[in-house]
Amino acid sequence: AGDVRFEDVEFAYDSERPILRGISFEARPGQTIALVGPSGAGKSTISRLLFRFYEPTGGRILIDGQDIRQVTQTSLRAAIGMVPQDTVLFNDSILYNIRYGREGASDADVDTAAENAQIDAFIRSLPHGYDAAVGERGLKLSGGEKQRVAIARTMLKAPPILVLDEATSALDTFTEREIQSALERVSRGRTTIVIAHRLSTVVDADEILVLDKGVIVERGTHDALIERG
Ligand code: ADP
Ligand code: ADP
Repeated sequence: AGDVRFEDVEFAYDSERPILRGISFEARPGQTIALVGPSGAGKSTISRLLFRFYEPTGGRILIDGQDIRQVTQTSLRAAIGMVPQDTVLFNDSILYNIRYGREGASDADVDTAAENAQIDAFIRSLPHGYDAAVGERGLKLSGGEKQRVAIARTMLKAPPILVLDEATSALDTFTEREIQSALERVSRGRTTIVIAHRLSTVVDADEILVLDKGVIVERGTHDALIERG
């Protein structure tokens, strides 16, 4: 499981102007496909189409050979996990946030996920800063820490397909490296579509698609793209 195929996908938010044209690629089970390109190129739109937030206006999207229009929302949600760049958290403990919607997970699973995402040190804290009601438990999570909470949630969900939106923000190098390694751990063995903001973070991708104004302008492995300039 975990085969994702886009076949000549076209999409327009309004009838005037297509945002995506001729998008074709395949991510085989366990492979990583990276989407790179300037802001506005259409990368997020591709992930929204995969989740069926919108329908393509042309072409089709298949998961394990089945047109996603024929897949129920429940199966689609189960098949695909997302680590967004900005995660919205409930004002309850990190532990609560990790467990929410993951009621089937055992305490041991939760511990392992928290360790892998490197958030075990503050799992009992609140995410949004000092809270008079609970005193010192309050903690203000940075963007990177929130992203690691999302990574822990994804580890518990263990979907065959994963969409990662890498951080763009000015993270310090140490934090960025930590997040990068947590992202690598969560994506290992899963089909991964990564919205990458730097080529340097996707050197191991099976294929990199370079998008500009809604079309794929270049594609290939990291080394092949670098060689071509
Ligand atoms: P990227 O993720 O590469 O930055 P997006 O997929 O967010 O690009 O956007 C691609 C294009 O679609 C941009 O021109 C953007 O302005 C437009 N767009 C994005 N979301 C909407 C929307 N909800 N309605 C209309 N246009 C949109
Ligand atoms: P769920 O709890 O439904 O399994 P996940 O934990 O996998 O969801 O996803 C984390 C959050 O990201 C959810 O709130 C989900 O609605 C949201 N999300 C899913 N897909 C996208 C997307 N393409 N863009 C932005 N947010 C998304």
